[in-house]
This record gives sequence, structure tokens and C-alpha cells, in this order.
Amino acid sequence: MQRNEIFHRDFEPIPYWWEAYKPTAEDLHDLPRRTHVAIVGGGYGGLSTALELARNGLDCVVLEAAELGFGASTRNGGAVSGGVNIGKSFSGKSLDPRSDRARRVLSDGAEAFSLIERLIAEEGIECHWKKTGRFVGAWTPAHYASQARRIDLLNDAAQSRAYMVPRDRQREEIASDYYYGGMVVERSANLHPALYYKGMLDACRARNVPVCARAAVIGIRERDGGWELLTSRGTLQAKEVVIATNGYTGNITPDLNRRVVPLASHIIATDELPPDLAITLIPKQRTLADTRRVLCYYRMSPDGKRMIFGGRARFTPGTPGQIVPILHRFMTHRFPQLRGVKVTHCWTGNVAFTLDALPHMGQRANGMNYLLGCNGSGVAMMTYLGWQTARKLAGKSNRPSAFDTQEFPDHSLYSGEPWFLPAIGSWYRLRDAVDRGLATLRS
Ligand SMILES: Cc1cc2nc3c(=O)[nH]c(=O)nc-3n(C[C@H](O)[C@H](O)[C@H](O)COP(=O)(O)OP(=O)(O)OC[C@H]3O[C@@H](n4cnc5c(N)ncnc54)[C@H](O)[C@@H]3O)c2cc1C
Repeated sequence: MQRNEIFHRDFEPIPYWWEAYKPTAEDLHDLPRRTHVAIVGGGYGGLSTALELARNGLDCVVLEAAELGFGASTRNGGAVSGGVNIGKSFSGKSLDPRSDRARRVLSDGAEAFSLIERLIAEEGIECHWKKTGRFVGAWTPAHYASQARRIDLLNDAAQSRAYMVPRDRQREEIASDYYYGGMVVERSANLHPALYYKGMLDACRARNVPVCARAAVIGIRERDGGWELLTSRGTLQAKEVVIATNGYTGNITPDLNRRVVPLASHIIATDELPPDLAITLIPKQRTLADTRRVLCYYRMSPDGKRMIFGGRARFTPGTPGQIVPILHRFMTHRFPQLRGVKVTHCWTGNVAFTLDALPHMGQRANGMNYLLGCNGSGVAMMTYLGWQTARKLAGKSNRPSAFDTQEFPDHSLYSGEPWFLPAIGSWYRLRDAVDRGLATLRS
């Protein structure tokens, strides 16, 4: 396909969401010299930590290396789930559903959903929050059967209000026959990610939290029973430090860097669609995802006019010339009726995978606090882990979060440089293709 057949003439290689809020460093806050809690990373995780600390009267500073909202928090798909993906690794394996741990993490996932809903209401954040549910399409009949086996656990532990939709009723959910049926999770929502980010930023600023842009932390060392942070804008002393750098974690925290694998995820937005076509594609305005290992996720824009289509076109960054044709092809596999529709935006961000596919928060042996590892689903989860971290630092948590454990696995072959991603990407794509090929032969 020719470039001009899929790229709109006004194409921009930036997130569609930035038309509503563009990450900025305009309002450069002075860097204080001293604080109680220094938070490294100014995404949802960092801001949520700061907001809850401020609500509890604790002094804190947020240090962001780039513009405010530079990271995944203004680049994501805006799908908000209450735990349905937790513990699900690329291989499709989940936590053992019979384990007590599975119930506890799902229950905390459900709490993350309640928290984000409450925060948006309490802070009056206008971010197009809509509880329209989610449809997860089964890539093969075996995946459909595996989804069906998880339903009871999801409904029991996470109050997901989940149910199966067989293939012959799939068109109630999506104007496509692409999947072998799938699972609806009613307790899911969608929002405008950059406006949610802006709302969190405004809430922090309203409580006079210094949120400092272009303040990259370039060194952290223990000093006088606390911490000294060397930043690109000066030095800061803090009693506590919280690392909230997720998919952008670097070598200033090597012990954490080798526990998270940054993975690129890519999204395209289409041009405005004809209204009579746009309204039919996802009739219930749900968010959608696949059960593939190399999954796609998609939804309509908040105004219902564009398709926002994401996926792991490749596991590493790429140029629009590489990414757009792949995602456009994935999109038209699912929606042949979108052939000929042009792409106006394409962008990339980093998600952070962990070796046990679970989010993590806690404290390292030296006292450094962290919240990391969204595993691709962090809108509610990183908000929640930030809130939990702040409650803990303020001495206000009622019980430890299920994600607050000493176990945060690493691997002897990984030191923070994900050299293996292209090979893993190819291997998973091959396995997806084989599974699908066999399913087609059998059906
Ligand atoms: C393309 C894409 C699609 C996604 N879709 C969804 C979705 O639909 N639903 C969902 O729930 N989740 C989704 N996610 C995941 C979600 O966006 C993230 O989990 C969430 O935004 C992470 O928030 P965070 O605050 O932990 O990290 P981020 O928002 O990534 O912020 C981390 C920040 O740390 C800063 N930083 C790093 N090092 C330093 C340093 N040394 N000094 C100072 N600052 C530093 C970075 O500049 C960055 O801004 C998606 C992610 C991507 C990339």
C-alpha cells in the first residue's frame, strides 16, 4: 500500500490526545532545596502519590525529567479496567486462580477501579469518564474456553460483572466476525488519558505541590538518614524518596531497572469517519482488546468520530513509516469497512513489564520506595499504587496492598537493557499465527 493511501495529508507523529492537553514545561516551578518526600517521575503514579501526601498534610516535590505528562500517562489508550489483566503474562498464563494470592490481587485491582472513579468525582476532573465496559475478543476457541474458566473468579474477587458472548452474538459487541466470541467485562470504563492527567496535575497544583518539569534526577544517594537527589536543576534533600518512573526507569536506580522491562506500545488515530459508519463499529462504545499474545486494543475517540487503534506493532520504538502500515493492517483485518480510511496521528510510549506480570510497590532494603510495573494496564493501577504508597508514608494505610511484597523478581540475564525484545516479539507473533492457523483449520 502506498504511503499516501493511509497517511492523511495533515498527519502528525504525536498523540491525538495532545490536542486537548500537550505536555508542557512552561510553568517551570522553582526547585525547593528540601522536602519530606521527593517523588521521581511525574506520570499518574507520581502525581497520585503527591496528591494523597498533600491531602494528608505531608510536604512533597514531584521531579519530572521532561515536560509534564511526557511519559505513558498522556499516551495510553484510556481503557480503565478493574483488574481483568492483572497477572496475565504474554504467554497468556495467569495467576493460579485457586490461589489466595489471585483473589487478593484481583480484589485490589477492583479497588483501583473504585479509587480512580472516586478521585475523578472528588476532584471534578473532566476527562470523558464513561463506564461503558470492555469486550475482549477470543483469538481462538481455546482462548474462549480459557476466558470462560476465569469468569467466576473475576466476578467473585473483582466484581467484574463479566460474561461470555458466543461467536454468533458477537456482532452485538463489534461490527466484525474476526473473533471466536469473547468476554464482556461490564465493570470497565474509558477516559481521555491526557485530560485525566491534566486533572491530576491541577489537583496537585491546587494543593501547592511543586511539580517540577525538566528536573531530571541524575543521582540519588543516602545522606544523614535521608536522601540527597542530584537533579538537572540543582540538589534536593528529602527524608523519603519514591521512584515512579515505570517504563522510563533508568540506571539511576539499577536495582529497580533490572526488574522492569520497558516495552514500546504504539497507537494510531484515524481521520473523522462518516457518522453512519462510526456509530456502527463498536455499538456499545466499549473498549476492546484481543487475547493474542501480541495484542491489539482499540476504542472510539471520546467524541465517537475516530478509531483509536493500538497494538504492539513491534516491541521497540519505530518510525511512523514502520508503525502506521502495520497498525492500519491490523485494524482493517478486524474492520474491513475501514479500508481507505486515513491515519492522522501515530505515537509510541513505554509500558513496563515485570517478570511475574504483576504490578509492584514497596521499599527496597535501603529504604527507597517504588511503584512500578503496569504491565500495560496502569491508568487505574498506577493511580492506586501511588495512593497506597502515600497512605503508607503518611501512616494511614489500613492494610498492606496485595502488590506490596518483598518479592520483586529479577533475572540473571537481564540488567536493564532489553536486548531480547525483537526475538521475543517474533516468537510470540509466530505462536499467535500458529494458534490461529490451527483454529481456522479446525473450524
Ligand atoms: C501506548 C500505550 C497504551 C496504553 N494503554 C493503556 C490503556 O488503555 N489502559 C491502561 O490502563 N494502561 C495503558 N497503558 C499503560 C499506562 O499508560 C501506564 O501504566 C501509566 O501511564 C504509567 O504511569 P506512571 O506514572 O507509572 O508512568 P509514566 O506516565 O510513564 O511516567 C513516568 C515518568 O518518569 C519520568 N522519569 C523517568 N526517569 C526520570 C528521572 N531520572 N528523573 C525524573 N523523571 C524521570 C519520565 O519522563 C516519565 O514522564 C498504556 C501505555 C502505553 C505506552
